[in-house]
Amino acid sequence: MPLHRLQFHVTHDCPVSCRECETKSGPWNGPFLDAPFMIEVIDEAWVLGCLSTIVFAGGEPLLKRYEIEQVLLHAQKRGLRSRVVTNAYWAASPKGAFHTLLDLQQAGLSEVTLTCDDMHQELIPLDYIKNAFVAARELGIPVLVFMKPALEAVITPGYLGTFLETTLHGCGEVGGDLLKEGEYLAYPDPASWGAPRNGTQILMIVSPTKDARVCQGVKAQPVATLPLGNLGYQSLVDVLGLRQTAH
Ligand code: SF4
Repeated sequence: MPLHRLQFHVTHDCPVSCRECETKSGPWNGPFLDAPFMIEVIDEAWVLGCLSTIVFAGGEPLLKRYEIEQVLLHAQKRGLRSRVVTNAYWAASPKGAFHTLLDLQQAGLSEVTLTCDDMHQELIPLDYIKNAFVAARELGIPVLVFMKPALEAVITPGYLGTFLETTLHGCGEVGGDLLKEGEYLAYPDPASWGAPRNGTQILMIVSPTKDARVCQGVKAQPVATLPLGNLGYQSLVDVLGLRQTAH
């Protein structure tokens, strides 16, 4: 099985608790993936020869920023692209947003995904998204705005583009996933999004409790995934079923 992308759900902790959170995240002080574990999994995947991208998601992964920066430094040495999916809770001020992203970029971060829609912005001010977006643009970090369309939504692509004073381009296919046109918006344009988009490429999701699943979409729910095993007590090779049986 050619493994191209690893997505670490670093924690299901989050500073907020949205009404329809797919991972049921919130301020739980629950389990999280530490840097030595993630680095070990990356190295196991890297020797298989196809790994190109590491994604940090959650919950809110930047609650574990120290762990992520350690992993980014290692992933950069391996020549891997990296992405953080975040609600921008850390971007309360333009200066704070800039320095957070600068630190992550210096550790090796390639791309950032900002979750932004009516549901998230019930709890996270839209100004935080703007601060993060502007900081990323100043630093030359490509941004994907992850927006779930909803009937009668206030925050639409047009609304957000006006608010951010830019044009957001629709991006129909991201990270090996076939998405509906208009669900996803990228800045500066989809062509800048360097992660693999080929639908034949394999994504593995690792939960905060080290359960591993193969996923056919960006969602982390069990229904969208095939459970494989647990990396807390199995090697990646065993989880992927790649170990040769002796005859
Ligand atoms: S910000 Fe995202 S991860 Fe956090 S509770 Fe809301 S939907 Fe879940």
